[in-house]
Amino acid sequence: MSDATDDTSPTGHAPRAERQSIGYCPYCSEENLFPLEGGGWECRSCLRAFSVVFRGLVAPSRTREGVR
Ligand SMILES: [Zn+2]
Repeated sequence: MSDATDDTSPTGHAPRAERQSIGYCPYCSEENLFPLEGGGWECRSCLRAFSVVFRGLVAPSRTREGVR
């Protein structure tokens, strides 16, 4: 009898609802951040709510080439 407490995904990665926390508010640079329910963060200094979106991976060789 196995309980569902040790359930892991087939990839071996446990699904994480929480990511790394953010150090600073991107709007006012304060550290007064708290996680929002349902995802995202709220800054209690400037009273903004925001979320961080994963845009995909970048190629390491493509830094600033092709800008000019
Ligand atoms: Zn802020």
